[in-house]
Amino acid sequence: MDKETEGVKDDYKDSLNFIEKIIEEDISNGCKEIITRFPPEPNGYLHIGHAKSICLNFGLALKYSGKCNLRFDDTNPVKEDTEYVDSIKEDVQWLGFNWAGEYYASDYFDQLYEWAEELIKKDKAYVDDQTQEEIRLSRGTVTEPGKESPFRNRTVEENLDLFRRMKNGEFNDGDKVLRAKIDMAHPNMLMRDPIMYRINHTEHHRTGNKWCIYPMYDYAHGESDSIEKVTHSICTLEFDVHRPLYNWFIDNLEIFPSRQYEFARLNLTYTVMSKRKLLQLVKENFVLGWDDPRMPTIIALRRRGYTPESIRLFVDKVGVAKRDNIIDLGLLEYCVREDLNKRVLRRMAVLDPIKLVITNYPEGKKEIINCVNNPEDSDSGTREVEFGRELYIERDDFMENPPKKYFKLSPGGEVRLRYAYIIKCQEVIKDEDGNILELHCTYDEQSHGGGSSDGRKVKGIIHWVNANTAKTAEVRLFDRLFSKENPDISDKEGGTFLDNLNSDSLKSVHAFIEPSLCDSEVGDKFQFERLGYFCKDRDSLPDKPIFNRTVTLKDTWAKLSAK
Ligand code: ATP
Ligand code: MG
Repeated sequence: MDKETEGVKDDYKDSLNFIEKIIEEDISNGCKEIITRFPPEPNGYLHIGHAKSICLNFGLALKYSGKCNLRFDDTNPVKEDTEYVDSIKEDVQWLGFNWAGEYYASDYFDQLYEWAEELIKKDKAYVDDQTQEEIRLSRGTVTEPGKESPFRNRTVEENLDLFRRMKNGEFNDGDKVLRAKIDMAHPNMLMRDPIMYRINHTEHHRTGNKWCIYPMYDYAHGESDSIEKVTHSICTLEFDVHRPLYNWFIDNLEIFPSRQYEFARLNLTYTVMSKRKLLQLVKENFVLGWDDPRMPTIIALRRRGYTPESIRLFVDKVGVAKRDNIIDLGLLEYCVREDLNKRVLRRMAVLDPIKLVITNYPEGKKEIINCVNNPEDSDSGTREVEFGRELYIERDDFMENPPKKYFKLSPGGEVRLRYAYIIKCQEVIKDEDGNILELHCTYDEQSHGGGSSDGRKVKGIIHWVNANTAKTAEVRLFDRLFSKENPDISDKEGGTFLDNLNSDSLKSVHAFIEPSLCDSEVGDKFQFERLGYFCKDRDSLPDKPIFNRTVTLKDTWAKLSAK
């Protein structure tokens, strides 16, 4: 290899994440097909953290022409439900991925059971009659070895008999467990005779009442990987201490050697990301459901107006790290702006209206103005919007006593109406209490389309809607669900993440919108000029459209990252 191509190869290697480096190494050592899996437990809806795992697992399979399975890790009958299975499948597909196989850990219960018997026969597993509490107390500590169970040395025959009777339902929950026989003095506490099976007389969402013993995560997970011949089993960092156990089961059963690799889980500011906590928010009505647009779930982000592309871009920018970190929510917002800016249509809407009358504009005159649909996309064309004598503008775009260098509307000041004329504010009409009712303005008839009667220019441009033709809509303005960067830390003694809920995270306003917005479908996305990106909500009625604000136009991320 000459110097130049050597350099290219090194650059390429540098741009690979650590898992890709491992995979390329494995391929060069003869690994024929890369198989990964995404293994959710169907006990809740997927969140943006899962999106990272999905993009990583499916992305690697795509990149290396391998396979990625969707495997439901449904070994705990208590918390699982088919509602969650369906939502998970929908979310993965919505993100843009297709699984090679759809599997359920519960489909492997027979095989797992057989392997458990095999370990018993090899004298590598035993039935323990101790209570959960006794087992916990005899585990020892990080500095002290554990104590062996008085049942540890049962004969293979006795263990087999008891395990079969456990399976046949002869015992009550908690009476017995099956434990791996490893080493009660092992420096890794998880290796001190971990529990493989517990008795649980609970109906399972797929296997019904067939089983009353269920395998523990550590026993089921690696074996399921092995059954599917998963080559790279990728999980989050906290599982690194489980790796020796993962390998121990596979090595002692002498089955396909799947291997586990850990990466840093995604954490986001102003968000909680554990399903248990998200479930609590739903159950205790702190939010309106799993798809409440303030939630970090995929289904909520989608309802809010996020696109699969924006989420994939985000995951890409976050990268794959080996150390835990917290990502600024601003980055996620930046990514959705990036994506929507390029492709959504612009429309005008006024969220906090103030009436504006152009006193020198002929009464009854109808004028059609051509407005650009998307300046970033010349194929998107223009649309016709009716102009008129009475308009609404944003209350925020007027100031009675403006500071210096104020470029929006003020008494005696001039501003351009987007795509239309320059207007000058002549009079502020107020009620008895001093509240502004109307602004009376004049317009420069020659200023249409960018010019003016005497060549003067104005700095400010504001948006508007026609008071006679505008429709009304409900617009939902969301803020962060939590008021603290890390909601898990409560300032109150013994407090919880609930103490950090932002009591002001949902505001609903009645807006005036361009009539064309009424023709849109649920899920359609727009940029409301100067305000942000909005998505039509599923609660909309034919005569009452509702729009969710996905994100404002203000970019906090670019500023942050430039620092
Ligand atoms: P939670 O703690 O939110 O309940 P979990 O890890 O129990 O999450 P699973 O359904 O077991 O949820 O997760 C499926 C896969 O998604 C696992 O491989 C898990 O490691 C991964 N995953 C879960 N949360 C994150 C996250 N925040 N970042 C990256 N990957 C995640
Ligand atoms: Mg889990």
